[in-house]
Amino acid sequence: MIKPDALEANNTGKIIDMIIEAGFSIKAMKLTHLNKTEAETFYAVHSERPFFGELVDYMTSGPIVAAILEKDNAVADFRTLIGATDPAEAAEGTIRKKYAESKAKNAVHGSDSDENAAIECAYHFSGREIVG
Ligand code: ADP
Ligand code: MG
Repeated sequence: MIKPDALEANNTGKIIDMIIEAGFSIKAMKLTHLNKTEAETFYAVHSERPFFGELVDYMTSGPIVAAILEKDNAVADFRTLIGATDPAEAAEGTIRKKYAESKAKNAVHGSDSDENAAIECAYHFSGREIVG
């Protein structure tokens, strides 16, 4: 996902360019706006964390772009491309180093495992609109 802060700052196109330049192919993509229930469901794994309320408020504060990306070693390579959760700790040249505002408003989401990627892809897309 490209998160609300990145859309608000008009960084969507630059982030998509970086994703394509890094060798990912886009299999599905859409602009959407999560409601509270959707954001709570998507981030249910974090429901006990102290920042959960802030995270849900932020993720519902504006539109997001959801995408399914394909690449060999996609999960690990995407996390390398986006950088650490906190932009202050993210490596030079990463999406979060360039475009994240803060540890909370950090521009992009990446799945943390193949298993969760499959769950998250299914969450955002029914399947019919997936290319290939
Ligand atoms: P990542 O997105 O790098 O996988 P996490 O899964 O740990 O990071 O956290 C999910 C999201 O919750 C982060 O991307 C960020 O938007 C938010 N978040 C994480 N830690 C904090 C924090 N300490 N305070 C506020 N928001 C946070
Ligand atoms: Mg995570």
